[in-house]
Amino acid sequence: MPYDTDNVFAKILRGEIPCETIYEDEFAIAFDDINPQSPVHVLVLPKGEYVSMDDFTANASDAEIAGFFRAVGAVARQLDVVGSGYRILANHGRDAHQEVPHFHMHIFAGRDVGPMIRPPRP
Ligand code: AMP
Repeated sequence: MPYDTDNVFAKILRGEIPCETIYEDEFAIAFDDINPQSPVHVLVLPKGEYVSMDDFTANASDAEIAGFFRAVGAVARQLDVVGSGYRILANHGRDAHQEVPHFHMHIFAGRDVGPMIRPPRP
């Protein structure tokens, strides 16, 4: 799947759509999810144009991958959720209900976030 430069996160990265940026470095940007599923719900994106976890891990450089994952950890520390705990999650493709085709990782925290996977609704 080719990268869609019109996806909403590409527009955020170009500054065409506003977001609540809480962290930014050479490799990544993090901002609040517009539809939070927990008291803390932050998205961390690599700055490079990667569709998904699959694209990122197959095609990003070692520096981009290391920089991105270090940024995820740094964001969690900045959010002060290391002690209480947090969940990271990345959706890839149809079965995971990926909505935005720019690789991103969710950080959920601020409450007990429950079991790892809920059964599908009937
Ligand atoms: P995913 O299903 O992993 O692709 O998740 C996409 C996430 O992006 C959802 O949790 C949305 O609420 C979030 N989202 C969509 N548009 C925006 C936006 N403009 N600013 C912040 N978060 C957004």
